[in-house]
Amino acid sequence: SDRTFTMIKPDAVANGYIGAILAKINKGGFRIAAMKYTQITKDQAMKFYEVHKNRPFYNELTDFMSSGPIVAAILEKENAVADFRTLIGATNPADAAEGTIRKEFAESMSNNAVHGSDSNENAAIEGAFYFSDMEII
Ligand code: ATP
Repeated sequence: SDRTFTMIKPDAVANGYIGAILAKINKGGFRIAAMKYTQITKDQAMKFYEVHKNRPFYNELTDFMSSGPIVAAILEKENAVADFRTLIGATNPADAAEGTIRKEFAESMSNNAVHGSDSNENAAIEGAFYFSDMEII
């Protein structure tokens, strides 16, 4: 089946939500194909989010994403990319639907608890940023 890539962002890790978010991911029917607890540097964050380099929030986003530990994971499920974006909810938690991860755990538009890939192509690129083939099970 398909794969998507996610990060539990520094806000959610700092707030103690790793376990609760992983429980929602499991309940949502996703299989964990790879997972690691890590912290990225500012340079790595700038590379990961390079597609956003001309957006006004690029500096804030990359500062935030390198500010503390995260959990990176590759998730497997039929229709993984779209189903995961449904599970996490809108980028801005104020607009996120009831029951979504961002509704429950996000602090704000920038500190929004989780990342989810927006296409199969980006899921593969983003997964390869964190994991070697040997680490994907
Ligand atoms: P993600 O790619 O993290 O799943 P997304 O696809 O919902 O999020 P994008 O528009 O791709 O949202 O933006 C990437 C990330 O940049 C968002 O998750 C959020 O953390 C941050 N971001 C987006 N818009 C803003 C903004 N206006 N101000 C601050 N941060 C923002």
